[in-house]
Amino acid sequence: MEANAKQSNYSARTARFVPKPAMSIAIQFYDKDGRSHAGYLNEISSTGLKCLMLNGTSVLRGSRVIDIKLVSPPLELSVPEAEIIRIERLVVESVPSNFRVAVLAFTNMQQTTLERLQPFLDPPPYLTGELAGDYAVGGAAEIQAEEHSALDFYRVDSADLFEKCDRFYEMIKDLQQKQLYQTMYRVTLTSGLDHRIIAFNPITKREEELICFDSNSYFSLHRHPRVIDATEKALRKVGYGTPSSQLLCGTNRYLRELEEVISDFHGREDTLVFPSGYGANSGIITGLLRKKDIVIRDRFSHTSIHDACSAADCQRNYTYPHLDFNRLEALLSEADADEGCKGKLVVSDGVFSMHGCIVPLPSLLEICRRHNAKLMLDEAHSVGVIGPNGKGVEDHFNLPGAVDILMGTFSKAPGTSGGYVTGKKELIYYLRFFARSAVFTASLPAATCAGITEAFRIITDEPEHRTQLWRNIRVFAPALKGSGFIVCEPESPIITVFIGTNQLLWAFSRDLFMSGIKCGNVSYPAVPNGEAILRFAVNSRHTDEDLNRCVEIMTGLGKKFGILNKTEDEIRKIGERMSK
Ligand code: PMP
Repeated sequence: MEANAKQSNYSARTARFVPKPAMSIAIQFYDKDGRSHAGYLNEISSTGLKCLMLNGTSVLRGSRVIDIKLVSPPLELSVPEAEIIRIERLVVESVPSNFRVAVLAFTNMQQTTLERLQPFLDPPPYLTGELAGDYAVGGAAEIQAEEHSALDFYRVDSADLFEKCDRFYEMIKDLQQKQLYQTMYRVTLTSGLDHRIIAFNPITKREEELICFDSNSYFSLHRHPRVIDATEKALRKVGYGTPSSQLLCGTNRYLRELEEVISDFHGREDTLVFPSGYGANSGIITGLLRKKDIVIRDRFSHTSIHDACSAADCQRNYTYPHLDFNRLEALLSEADADEGCKGKLVVSDGVFSMHGCIVPLPSLLEICRRHNAKLMLDEAHSVGVIGPNGKGVEDHFNLPGAVDILMGTFSKAPGTSGGYVTGKKELIYYLRFFARSAVFTASLPAATCAGITEAFRIITDEPEHRTQLWRNIRVFAPALKGSGFIVCEPESPIITVFIGTNQLLWAFSRDLFMSGIKCGNVSYPAVPNGEAILRFAVNSRHTDEDLNRCVEIMTGLGKKFGILNKTEDEIRKIGERMSK
């Protein structure tokens, strides 16, 4: 797969830098006929530049540029290939009429070129202003972030509805002033999401390349040429949206095709597609449960499952401690003995999204069968990745078709957004009408459906991505463990490192970011208090260099913070001491 082969042209949204005031950067370039052209830099990004030229009419659109030189300040731009994609006349009164703007698109520019130019350039307004405003704070914060968790800002009793927002903002301000927020949240990418990303570093205020362990697109299929082609073809044919419900005019042939491909992939009769995975869980659970039913789910299930259960109509609503099947069994036995209790639903993640472990499906199934409960499995993180054929946890345990309600998302291995439920046709027909998040909302855009259909075909046709991913997982997790970190068992691409307290998590992840690594930082309430983790999503596109570099940086930081070869309690104490 060569997803990066041709960069998008200059119209793509990349960070566009302009010369600092009163600085004119003279440019000279040679076209493929060896003719020299001169002008002034107007704007530059990682994919192209705009050049103000004295006599633009002598340059032809489509010309290939062989060499670009900055005359003053003198700098060699390393641009192996560029193309002039547009020549515009500059209509400004004070400028002579023979002035033109040439727009040059680079097909391959080194990131170092932009870095070397940075001292002469101003960042674009959206990286310093409103859109990047997450670091533009003023005044002393009234709240110390270390002393709080998000829950303190959820339970605020006040006659002023906005008081909780004002207090929460004080905590954000404190995190911003300590430069912790900026490197953890809303980091602005100026490239596509992949095993390496280019992001604006809000501390150095420069675009920088990072090795990314924070992409759920485990094979980067969202950049796969076949997926892009399929999406593009559908996009050109039917436009960029299908703004009507799937029950009305939102069912395009691309959506039908997608439903068929998914049903076939999981060996089910029919499939219903939702615009998001969150919406899928919400629609399935609230669509099925009624007042006298019971729902029981694993406490570590995804938030969308918990939210859906809270919103459901049923009065009997329980969780069991993570993978504690004894407790599940006890709750189901109570339900058996309760005459008022009707339908039973057990819900679990297939692969748990925060810790990456696989649910022991055979035992769970056996308990559900014994108590006549239906089993719903959220396969968001397993599809494409788990099992010899990438068909998820059922495939892993060789139990095809075992789960009653199989839910999945398109936001992980398939590489975009959306969710689905697949199962027997009676269930799907019912949910088509009773899953409110699929009825009272516009359907997933047809072009996206076309791309996902292709992504599912690739998952089957090109097992090499899965092979490479598993090879990377098996290299990365033991290497981290060997360095002395507490690392989860590598059962999926989600590899976690125990960090314990928020204080340590923040400091550690800021240093990681500044060293060129982007991963997930997970703290309470996503995990229990005091069990914060770094969450690394391994990708099939990670190279050995990416993995080794990350382990090297992690090890250096592990030594710096003194957490290598320590127990969980010892690591927690190190974090607690940091806030004193
Ligand atoms: N279920 C699980 C297990 C998830 O991890 C997620 C997303 N992180 C969702 C559901 C929600 O999916 P989406 O992002 O497509 O809304």
